Amino acid sequence: MGLRRVVVTGGAGFVGSHVCEALLRSGVRVVCVDNFRTGSVDNLPENPKLGVVHADVTRPLDLLGEVDLVLHLACPASPVDYLRMPVDTLRTGALGTLHALELAHRKGARIVVASTSEVYGDPLEHPQREDYWGNVNPIGPRSVYDEAKRFGEAAVEAFRREYGTNTAIVRIFNTYGPRMRPDDGRVIPTFLSQARAGRPLTVHGDGQQTRSLCHVDDLVRGLLLMAESDHHGPINLGNPQEVTVLEIAERIIALTGSASRIEHVDAMVDDPRRRRPDISLARSVLGWQPEISLDEGLRRSFALEPVG
Ligand code: NAD
Ligand code: UDP
Repeated sequence: MGLRRVVVTGGAGFVGSHVCEALLRSGVRVVCVDNFRTGSVDNLPENPKLGVVHADVTRPLDLLGEVDLVLHLACPASPVDYLRMPVDTLRTGALGTLHALELAHRKGARIVVASTSEVYGDPLEHPQREDYWGNVNPIGPRSVYDEAKRFGEAAVEAFRREYGTNTAIVRIFNTYGPRMRPDDGRVIPTFLSQARAGRPLTVHGDGQQTRSLCHVDDLVRGLLLMAESDHHGPINLGNPQEVTVLEIAERIIALTGSASRIEHVDAMVDDPRRRRPDISLARSVLGWQPEISLDEGLRRSFALEPVG
């Protein structure tokens, strides 16, 4: 793709490690910057073209040498992770994004910043289009993530306006796949761990809230298409196949052949009720759409066999 050296912040995390791998496959040199708070060096391949820098993006980033692209992914992403480190999450989303932008600006590099469907909060418009401003509780427990990501988007646009930095915002919707920590708290690894151990699957609230789950291979393809384009976004990247949380639990029980039952536990505070991306923009600008269905993605990622 004509790139020589790419910086991936958060490269040791779930999404970041797949991004690093895809870049390395195309022959690009990659520098992964990570503090390993929610990621691990074990997620990264051995590769002479991969450099790993142990650094915290809440501090200014200083890297020697040329950089043509910064992919800024560093940030805890699981609600369980960000709810247990609220101040750190705010600092990472806010200061970390400013530092990534400063690095890109200094190097004359393009920067793609990972934002999130959480900027839409508990959305009053459905499906969510990029021109919807969202419905976020600014003082609720999730706000440390949502508002930091919204600040991050504002920072990106300010750098583009004031300094002409070559920026892009991608709003990533729920993504799953190999290398999510089994205990990271997100719905797919949690239900899979519970189903495999024969424990009850803990559905928050009535389970009628919806999500739209994208396989990480589809997501990474979209992310790299955005990096190669000159579009500044924001652009939604996600799978429009919408399912209830209860349906996710039932699918996982069926696919694992588990004898687990479903247990309803307390609803999460401010848990968005519905979420589905409108991906018309990604389709028209990037020619991108997901190709992997939920069942196929689950089987492919977690070596599951259909039952019955
Ligand atoms: P993850 O927690 O697996 O990975 C995040 C990585 O960032 C980890 O390796 C972690 O150690 C690193 N990190 C965290 N704080 C840091 C800091 N201060 N300095 C340096 N490194 C730091 O999460 P993920 O699912 O891979 O998410 C990656 C990005 O994508 C995040 O920005 C997240 O907000 C965004 N995103 C992910 C999803 C999803 O469903 N996975 C959805 C929407 C947005
Ligand atoms: N969820 C659940 N049980 C769990 C984990 C998650 O019912 O053990 C629900 C959660 O309340 C939310 C949905 O699954 O409605 C997706 O949660 P996740 O943490 O994966 O991502 P979110 O979209 O909330 O960031």
